[in-house]
Amino acid sequence: MIRINENYAKLKASYLFADIARRVGAFASAHPDRPVIRLGIGDVTEPLPPACVEALHAAADEMSARATFRGYGPEQGYGFLRELISSHDYAERGCRIEPDEIFVSDGAKCDTGNIQEIFAKDIRLAIPDPVYPVYVDTNVMAGRSGPAAGARYEGILYLEATASNGYVPAVPDAPADLVYLCFPNNPTGAVATREQLAAWVAYAARNKAVILFDSAYEAYIRDPAIPRSIYEIEGAREVAIEFRSFSKTAGFTGTRCAYTVVPKTLVAWDGAGRPQALHAMWSRRQTTKFNGVSYPVQRAAAAIYSEAGRRQTRGLTDFYLGNARLIRAAMARLGLPCVGGENAPYIWVDVGRDSWEFFDLLLERAQVACTPGAGFGRCGEGHVRISAFNSRENVETALDRIGAALA
Ligand code: PLP
Repeated sequence: MIRINENYAKLKASYLFADIARRVGAFASAHPDRPVIRLGIGDVTEPLPPACVEALHAAADEMSARATFRGYGPEQGYGFLRELISSHDYAERGCRIEPDEIFVSDGAKCDTGNIQEIFAKDIRLAIPDPVYPVYVDTNVMAGRSGPAAGARYEGILYLEATASNGYVPAVPDAPADLVYLCFPNNPTGAVATREQLAAWVAYAARNKAVILFDSAYEAYIRDPAIPRSIYEIEGAREVAIEFRSFSKTAGFTGTRCAYTVVPKTLVAWDGAGRPQALHAMWSRRQTTKFNGVSYPVQRAAAAIYSEAGRRQTRGLTDFYLGNARLIRAAMARLGLPCVGGENAPYIWVDVGRDSWEFFDLLLERAQVACTPGAGFGRCGEGHVRISAFNSRENVETALDRIGAALA
């Protein structure tokens, strides 16, 4: 009798987005004359930068001619893209990351979800709360947690991000082996200072731990003092893996391209206490289970680094940050404390009441959908996430309605 992986049964059903869709759907059918604006989504709304579209067209033409056609590419990504990433995203910021330490992929979701495969099952996990749910759920699926207990799972060390620590968890007293960090953060939009990241790097070195640093939103950082990469911190090459994505940098959520950096200097230990290079393990994993990102998509990603591409992607992120500024100002007028939105596309609002109650209130009175914080973890209760990913017109209309409804 074939048996299932029963770890899946431990997963709390993810009701968040289904619940939002159900409540918005019910409202829309009851009030067809009052269209709802969704300020909750984590997906971009603006089209691809023209430089990327041109590159996609040119690559499609190459694929149409025998002389320039390409079949399977390198599993780790084409050299042209890895070299651009190495020089622009790292060398220009004073970080030494070689092209062959970069693994191009079709998304940071898969990479942040798959990376746990190369670690032992009985390691101690430290995961933020609130959190991008992929980090937790993929470890639950792999059997690295006990059963669900309320909004949490037994056996995981939760790193609480609350108003009292400015939504940036401090290093815990307890040791952990694998630490997930995400800055700029989803869902809070908080960013970590150099000193805060240095404390995490020191913690990892002290505990022989590995940090998984998700910087999918690094393109939104405007404050020059905030590190854009964990490798800006001394010693991080020995303790950290970094995940980046073109999804929110250049509108690639539907085009799909991202990358993961595994420095060759990074090790974890085998059962006999011998150090093993994680680069070799991730390379083995990717070459076995992944066949590379499509050639036209990698060309489109490379175009982001051209002069026009850089200007256009900066324009895109500036546009969303403009929305974020309007949202922050509206929350300030309403007297609702918030973080994020200055170096991130999310604004985390302390609504001072149950997050679903506030969601319903906003939907009923303003026909605006936000994301209830409780869906991101226990510490998300009392908050909602508002996203800057929308047209300017929608943001302005939504904020006018919220202002009128809550005044
Ligand atoms: N990491 C974080 C923190 C995210 O919020 C998201 C997407 O919302 C991802 C990773 C996934 O990015 P990708 O589109 O590259 O899979």
